[in-house]
Amino acid sequence: MVKGEKKIYLKGFRSWAEISRKRLRENVSLIYDFTGKDVFAVVKADAYGHGAVNVSKILTEIPEVKYLCVATAEEGKELRKAGIDRDILVLGGVLEDEIECFKRYNLVPVISDFQQLNTALKHSIKKVHLKFDTGMHRLGFLTQDVNTVLEKIKKLQVEGLMSHFPSADTDPEFTKKQILVFYSIVNTFQRAGFYPKYIHLQNSAGLVYNCDYCNAVRVGISIYGGKPADNFPVPVNTVMSVKAKVITVKRLKKGDTVSYGGTFKAPKDMDVAVVAFGYADGLPRELSNRGYFLFRDRKLKILGSVTMDMTIVDATGIEIKPMDAVTVIGKDNKNEIYFEDIAKMCSTIPYEIMCRISKRVKRVVVDE
Ligand SMILES: *Cc1c(COP(=O)(O)O)cnc(C)c1O
Repeated sequence: MVKGEKKIYLKGFRSWAEISRKRLRENVSLIYDFTGKDVFAVVKADAYGHGAVNVSKILTEIPEVKYLCVATAEEGKELRKAGIDRDILVLGGVLEDEIECFKRYNLVPVISDFQQLNTALKHSIKKVHLKFDTGMHRLGFLTQDVNTVLEKIKKLQVEGLMSHFPSADTDPEFTKKQILVFYSIVNTFQRAGFYPKYIHLQNSAGLVYNCDYCNAVRVGISIYGGKPADNFPVPVNTVMSVKAKVITVKRLKKGDTVSYGGTFKAPKDMDVAVVAFGYADGLPRELSNRGYFLFRDRKLKILGSVTMDMTIVDATGIEIKPMDAVTVIGKDNKNEIYFEDIAKMCSTIPYEIMCRISKRVKRVVVDE
């Protein structure tokens, strides 16, 4: 961990991702202030590429974060082994061969079907959250099964009820219907004498909707500063900034081609820098001849194909030398390359760009 200083330079590593403790904490506060609900922080997929252990350590300093959510029992185990003692919810549910892991590491499953319900009962897993399918059609009990579910949960401690939005960013009508359908399920539970402690439905994109019977939100992308939609009302900031070092600089002659396939041809004499960051580090190959890095707030355009370990950029007229660090994604000085910008260039979503930043890129927690 590097403390205090503004500019980080990691010796011995060719690339690194700075994880801002301050921004992560601020984003959670902003979300809590906006919603007034308990925060279930989603740290699956190595905290969307930010490093699940380090991120969870920061999140557990925040009292409003009541749960950490992971996708699999293995992800929960990693957190427990690192000494994280906050409640952990496994969104992907429980399969028979994971029981031991659930018990040993005190993980809470989201139960989504009768098979999983029976598994929990059979192995006396008591505390569970139950998920209902109100339109995602991935996991969750069907709404018409609610009474059968109620008959079978007498021996369980149902701590939470949940559902999930597939289209909160694109389809308000559909989403509002889901809020109503889920309410009727919550209501059915209450009439049967079940008052689960947590009712949670909203993901990041869902924060713009009012769900007054819910008391927690399950947020991932927004705590990392990603905006699930262009008009997202919470002013969160990007938590991760990815840096990489220049390996070498060289001069090209007019007509020289660059990288595999020679897809860039120099229209004039130019200077280029070779940067130690390629698609194996998580830079989408779609950025070949399209993306750019930042160096002292100036854009260095990507020339030719992104390669596995390196990318070549235009450094004409820029004073840059081997071992200088450029910004691949995130905050440079005043300028920033947003995950959303890159995602748009690649016809995907910021989630995918974040969680594709690979293991080779060293994660460093920084204060600012
Ligand atoms: C990943 C996930 C979330 C978090 O979604 P964001 O869009 O990142 O906020 C919430 N709930 C479930 C069930 C998920 O799988």
